[in-house]
Amino acid sequence: MSGYGCEDMSGGQEEIWVLFQGSTRPEFQYFPDNVQGPGCVVDPSEVTLPGCSCTSHSCSPESCSCLQTHGQSYDAVGKLLTVHRANSAHCSPVFECNALCSCSDSCSNRVVQRGLRLRLEVFSTQDRGWGVRTLEGIPQGTFVCEYAGEVIGYLEARRRQLAQTSKDNNYIIAVREHAGTGSITETFVDPAKVGNVGRFLNHSCSPNLFMIPVRTHSLVPQLALFAAQDIGANEELTFDYSGGCSDQSPMQKDDVFKDKWTDGYQRKVCHCGATNCMKLLPLDFSILS
Ligand SMILES: [Zn+2]
Ligand SMILES: [Zn+2]
Ligand SMILES: [Zn+2]
Repeated sequence: MSGYGCEDMSGGQEEIWVLFQGSTRPEFQYFPDNVQGPGCVVDPSEVTLPGCSCTSHSCSPESCSCLQTHGQSYDAVGKLLTVHRANSAHCSPVFECNALCSCSDSCSNRVVQRGLRLRLEVFSTQDRGWGVRTLEGIPQGTFVCEYAGEVIGYLEARRRQLAQTSKDNNYIIAVREHAGTGSITETFVDPAKVGNVGRFLNHSCSPNLFMIPVRTHSLVPQLALFAAQDIGANEELTFDYSGGCSDQSPMQKDDVFKDKWTDGYQRKVCHCGATNCMKLLPLDFSILS
């Protein structure tokens, strides 16, 4: 089906239509999941995590090896339990039940892997290019959508970023996870050519979504966006490109990496309009876990 304001941008690939309001469709290939790009050594579609042997309808922390190893992240209806901590320096890593688990598809530890469930619309904003709004109310803690695209290596991300001109949109998100042991895991996702609805989300210094790396079947995290607050129908959805967990202490900030990353790259002006607006778009996204 086609026509103004009446098109499924995903072409039937999502569980639900991604509405598109505009006359010219932006050029990119819609794909709901991460795909392996240059420099990414693990295929994100490969199952690399072990599964539990629960035979119950839904896993419970008393008996489930997944929940015992990684902790419980969701409540019975699939809302994130730790929303209040999402804006603090530490985000708990989320591991869902996976393709090797013997629990049912409706296990409460399966949320992000079920994909998009909300009616979202890509629309043209007045001064910030494309944006995404929700056509229905979203309760706090609800999974909204993924930021999916090509998963690439550091050198490829750097190469692509340096090749951008000031007119290009920068879509690359770099997520850095700091483990307690001092090790750092970096994930770079670029939805410029292949991506999902997440690529149209605008940055805000006062966002209503936050991003958490969620592992479902693979060790390669999915960059999942959750509602930071109750969101009303028709509100624009935004997240902080510099990370919901950016309130970290200076000691933990990886300044060396950041300098390398931002060197030679021009920052863009932020038009989010929030009272705490930093006036420049952030470049860097870090998560401590
Ligand atoms: Zn399960
Ligand atoms: Zn289980
Ligand atoms: Zn499991």
